[in-house]
Amino acid sequence: MDYDVIIIGAGPGGIFSAYEMVKLKPGLKIAVFEAGYELARRHCPIDGVKVKSCVGCKVCSIMNGFGGAGAFSDGKYNITNDYGGTLYEYIGRDEALDLMNYVDEINTSHGGADTHMFSTKGTPLKKICMQNKLTLLEASVRHLGTDINYVVLEQIYDELKDKVDFFFETKVANIEKLSDGYKVNYSRDGRDMSADCEYCIISVGRSGSAWMQTVCSDLSIPTRSNRVDIGVRVELPAQIFSDITDDLYEGKIVYRTAKFEDLVRTFCMNPHGIVVNENTNGIITVNGHSFEGDDKKTDNTNFALLVSKHFSEPFKDSNGYGESIARLSNMLGGGVILQRFGDLERGRRSTQKRIDEGTVRPTLAATPGDLSLVLPKRILDALIEMIYALDKIAPGTANDDTLLYGVEVKFYNMEVSLNERLETCHKNLFVIGDGSGVTHSLSHASASGVFVAREICSEKA
Ligand SMILES: Cc1cc2nc3c(=O)[nH]c(=O)nc-3n(C[C@H](O)[C@H](O)[C@H](O)COP(=O)(O)OP(=O)(O)OC[C@H]3O[C@@H](n4cnc5c(N)ncnc54)[C@H](O)[C@@H]3O)c2cc1C
Repeated sequence: MDYDVIIIGAGPGGIFSAYEMVKLKPGLKIAVFEAGYELARRHCPIDGVKVKSCVGCKVCSIMNGFGGAGAFSDGKYNITNDYGGTLYEYIGRDEALDLMNYVDEINTSHGGADTHMFSTKGTPLKKICMQNKLTLLEASVRHLGTDINYVVLEQIYDELKDKVDFFFETKVANIEKLSDGYKVNYSRDGRDMSADCEYCIISVGRSGSAWMQTVCSDLSIPTRSNRVDIGVRVELPAQIFSDITDDLYEGKIVYRTAKFEDLVRTFCMNPHGIVVNENTNGIITVNGHSFEGDDKKTDNTNFALLVSKHFSEPFKDSNGYGESIARLSNMLGGGVILQRFGDLERGRRSTQKRIDEGTVRPTLAATPGDLSLVLPKRILDALIEMIYALDKIAPGTANDDTLLYGVEVKFYNMEVSLNERLETCHKNLFVIGDGSGVTHSLSHASASGVFVAREICSEKA
């Protein structure tokens, strides 16, 4: 065998499994194959001045490369079983939390020591939410911020780079099962090559979802369809949300709509942050960032409002449904569409003039338009109801000048059928992180990496 363990994907799942194996069994021969660039070479050309929108790079540096989709993220590590994935269903609630806390220790000992840990414990907001038909989910949140998240990744990479063989710009084409392990076929510098291993860990995240599907079909690994979340990113003056964000940084709040009894939730809150484009397989959607350093803070807070859609027979392609809605916004707006809440309520499109006359300065250059031409009525009604519900706990949320960017779509990978070791029906072939459909967050993906590393190391004793 060329390697004891091959890890496919250098996102948080892959990185933390490599980290833990190096720590527990320094003698293991480990390789990581990553389609994107190493951290220092990751760069998105959108600068808001010369390049305003996605130019469709061959490899998207926002989603791919060392650090994975999380490298330029806000670096919010949510320590909770309430959201971010269903890892606890496989390994138990206590172990899942222990692993997330362990990941936090690693982050804080690699440059994140001075960052803030927020908690919902004992917050008066819980009661205020209940009184207004809203539910505040429980969590501790380590906010690294985009800048410190980068420092942590740099330090972890420095520690690993001489102990693990990293292959960047190396996309794995497929995996073959051998009698005693796996053959990983990849292309590098335009040449097709392969490497063998005893254990294989797949950690390809959301950007690897289509690829993951082909692996499951090639190796007859059962899968189940997952959900898709559709909504908008809300941007408003930071003071309006300060009662929530000062205490909690990120309040995960859920509302059940009166009209359809659908659940709407807040997601990825970025106090004093910026709104950004996200490119998923060529489709431009919206997301948000914020920074720990004061010099980069803006006057605005942004967060997503999302409605989950599950489909059953005969339609199973939840992601395809989300993609079609995102494509519609791209068709009408050439990318992300921006609308004032007041314009949406009055049934008219936003224009550049109306945006310029508003009191909230957009942090992303998006096309003024009409989101009601893009979002299905049921989803739009749910979002509007939620904005009015939030207005009760954070007055001003439903102001006319509140900005809505659309669409925000959270795609989930199909769920790969795994046992309680996160192993597929093939021995020693593990799937972790967001690519498994089990996790959808930094902390859960990282924890799943540590978990599988420990499983492998306990066998290699
Ligand atoms: C803009 C943004 C902000 C976010 N903010 C947060 C946040 O604040 N908090 C939070 O909890 N989560 C956040 N997330 C989600 C978080 O980044 C993911 O949940 C997390 O990165 C998942 O980790 P992963 O290792 O499973 O996959 P990923 O991070 O997606 O990494 C997978 C890696 O595999 C590589 N890959 C894919 N296919 C192949 C292949 N065939 N061969 C070789 N390599 C391959 C990819 O290039 C990628 O680098 C954010 C995501 C984005 C995009």
